Amino acid sequence: MDLCFECGSELSHQKTNLEKKWNNDYYTILDVPVMICPKCNEEYFDGPILTRVEELLRSDAVDRVKKRVRYH
Ligand SMILES: [Zn+2]
Repeated sequence: MDLCFECGSELSHQKTNLEKKWNNDYYTILDVPVMICPKCNEEYFDGPILTRVEELLRSDAVDRVKKRVRYH
């Protein structure tokens, strides 16, 4: 069970769209797994997930025109 560092509430597993600056542009990563606190709306991303996001941004999976990529 994962708890919020701020208030100790149980975090809910959801998916979100993450904005990330990359090569001086902002990219949107769709459907990124995230844990959200139902009380204070704090968002927590696991380290491996952020590593994967960077891999995706470097890969050919990215739409360089729309500046977006779906997490997978
Ligand atoms: Zn909280």
